[in-house]
Amino acid sequence: MSVRVRFAPSPTGGLHLGGVRTVLYNYLFARHHGGEFILRIEDTDQSRFVPGAEEYIFRCLKWCGLEPDESPLHGGDYGPYRQSERKEQYRQYAEKLVADGFAYYAFDTPEELEQMREHYKTESNPAPQYDHSIRKKMRNSLTLTRDEVIALLEKNTPHVIRIRMPENELVSFQDMIRGTVEFQTSLVDDKVLLKADGMPTYHLAVVVDDYLMKITHAFRGEEWLPSAPVHVLLWKYLFGLDQMPQWAHLPLILGPGGKLSKRDGAKYGFPVYAMNWTDLKTNELTEGFYERGFLPEAFVNLLALLGWNDGTEKELYTMDELIASFDIERVHKGGAKFDFEKAKWFNQEWIKLKQPSELRDVVYARLLAADLKVTDQALLETVIGLVKDRCALLSDFVQQAGFFFKAPVVLDTAAVLPKWTEAKAVFFEACMQRLKELQSWDHAAIEETFKNLAADHQLKPGDLQLPMRIMLVGGKFGPAVFQIAEIIGKAATLERMEYALRQLRDQASA
Ligand code: GLU
Repeated sequence: MSVRVRFAPSPTGGLHLGGVRTVLYNYLFARHHGGEFILRIEDTDQSRFVPGAEEYIFRCLKWCGLEPDESPLHGGDYGPYRQSERKEQYRQYAEKLVADGFAYYAFDTPEELEQMREHYKTESNPAPQYDHSIRKKMRNSLTLTRDEVIALLEKNTPHVIRIRMPENELVSFQDMIRGTVEFQTSLVDDKVLLKADGMPTYHLAVVVDDYLMKITHAFRGEEWLPSAPVHVLLWKYLFGLDQMPQWAHLPLILGPGGKLSKRDGAKYGFPVYAMNWTDLKTNELTEGFYERGFLPEAFVNLLALLGWNDGTEKELYTMDELIASFDIERVHKGGAKFDFEKAKWFNQEWIKLKQPSELRDVVYARLLAADLKVTDQALLETVIGLVKDRCALLSDFVQQAGFFFKAPVVLDTAAVLPKWTEAKAVFFEACMQRLKELQSWDHAAIEETFKNLAADHQLKPGDLQLPMRIMLVGGKFGPAVFQIAEIIGKAATLERMEYALRQLRDQASA
């Protein structure tokens, strides 16, 4: 039997780290076993539907290089892959459950449900659930007579279908990460399976679709564990437990204060979503790793290691290496702590691994967005080669490479002024003259000229390099200063020196 796994998001908002990691583990498992990775859109709860969310999910997966084999976008033999388009299929399964005694019609109105909650709430149970004890007191096909039920159905009385959770049974299943997981059924409520509008709930749809789409393994976040007993029973009642996929519930991703929430992003200043997401209702923007300047390879690499390792110290993996070594049974049970500094380390390492030519387009786009016009692509590659080891994020290239393409306007003269002397000013005037006359404009010749002249002026070259850097770069960063001079060229070097000297002179005398 070939492996078929699925990621089944509800299109309700942005895709956070945990969601992408679920995609990744599904994807790696499928590729490792030569199977298929399916993306199914679970949009049965129309009240939570958010326009644009589905397109956004596809954009994120494309950026990460985690494209599904089958999906609403990619097609496939088991479509449609949007649950709202499969609506007609679900009722027959719900009706079969009723006929077999595993589910029942419930006619309670919203007011009656509210009264029930009011009536049965106690201090220890402030939100009573529709469960095995309450169902005996409500208006459903377990309490009404057969004739009453038929009459209500004939009159099209709004109703739902609920699962009839067994009393005092132990439901268990084997989780690929957690081993045997057991649930006491009396603690689980009678979940709605089919809603009054004829739409299935997630619980029914997920089981029916995993069956119809021949899913062999279902990996999802640990937050779905409480729903597992309902799903296991539905598998047992509808298709047989031997048909059920193997489950794995992935550990939570933890932020600085417990479960990583999207609020943590703004609070601690790091991205939480794969890509920027704006909530149309509140206009609230949640930042993405893409926009912050992560390479997809680094993002995937760091996510893979959030809760998994191959038993060695290895940390940097290409996608192919991940596919070869990934093993779902090695995923940890406990929550995985997300550390943004470590995430940046992954990105930095990946930037180092890349050839300048591979980074050129993304860096070009960043520079352009920062109003830095680059016309010479070969020059851009040279610059990238020089500065990339200093960049943890792609956004760092704006600072680290920007001054090659645009003269700095604001100079960090404060870094120089405390040790600025008239002798230095005189040196730089002379230096400009010497450089103007220099025949071969390369960094070795520039450096030699600079050092010889420093000796003539009885100044230490080491004391002159910082001012030179501030003149060319604007701040205390960047690669070797003579290399910068070589790359920006003679004219630009002299212009920047002159501009800076004027400022230093004015500020020193002020
Ligand atoms: N639709 C569920 C979600 O939004 C999927 C859970 C599952 O994979 O079973 O996460």
